[in-house]
Amino acid sequence: MNLRKLSAGAGLVVALMVLGPADAVAQARKVYISVDLEGISGVNGDDQTSSTGSEYGRARKLMAEDANAAIRGAFEGGATDVLVNDSHGGQRNLLPEDLDPRARMISHSFKRHGMMEGLDETFDAVIFVGYHGKADSPRGLFAHTGSGVVKDVRINGVSVGEGGMNALLAAWYGVPVVMVTGDDVAVEQQKDTVPGVRGVAVKRAINVRAVEMRPLADTRREIQAAARESVQAAKKPAPVRAPGYVVRMQFRNFTIPEVASAFGEMSQVAPDTVQFSRSTMPEAYRLIRVLYRFINTD
Ligand SMILES: [Zn+2]
Repeated sequence: MNLRKLSAGAGLVVALMVLGPADAVAQARKVYISVDLEGISGVNGDDQTSSTGSEYGRARKLMAEDANAAIRGAFEGGATDVLVNDSHGGQRNLLPEDLDPRARMISHSFKRHGMMEGLDETFDAVIFVGYHGKADSPRGLFAHTGSGVVKDVRINGVSVGEGGMNALLAAWYGVPVVMVTGDDVAVEQQKDTVPGVRGVAVKRAINVRAVEMRPLADTRREIQAAARESVQAAKKPAPVRAPGYVVRMQFRNFTIPEVASAFGEMSQVAPDTVQFSRSTMPEAYRLIRVLYRFINTD
């Protein structure tokens, strides 16, 4: 260490003594935001959620508005770096020019970790924006898990939707899921998997197609406030790692389980169901994604 570094170090120690560690050095704070589309404020029809739908252009703008509310809140809550991951369909919905210019963004669905691509243990908080209920929820707007072919995903015996799966991956890295936005069903389901998570229900699902929407100005204001407060309060827990991950996936057809059984480690435990195990959550997550996304049975 040269003398200049030494004196700079001594100055830092003095500053810490006078101000306390929290004031002396602005902590880098990385926030990860995964943005889906079905649970976005104002989105209410599949002519919006499909990239060929006549209302898709409007939906992209609505998606950016909710994402931007969360980004603003995150920065107000102390974030110094925000990474947004486009998490819907082909995952090229958010237009960079619509997004808060302070955020970085990952796009395109050719990702091993899909809705959670780019997350690692260096992040301090995870936010889910625009989420929806899991497959076969009796009353969730656009409820599904991964894609329409999936009937249920169970990890170590527990049925999970996208929010549940993604939370298990975040837990593996020791990054807390601090907030979720979506329809009321998505928010309630997330609270089951992440107790204490802050939720903003931007609309009330009447059933899988009908919905009561809250005023856009209200939901965006609430998203911003909740992001600010939850990022401010975020504390990193120890990683949560099960000794192993047993995954059971039930499909709405028999073709995918039959094709998947070509992989030696995959057992077709029922005509519509496969089971496999992996020793880590990232490995399990990647294989779940291959099964619902990259096997084309058309
Ligand atoms: Zn989704």
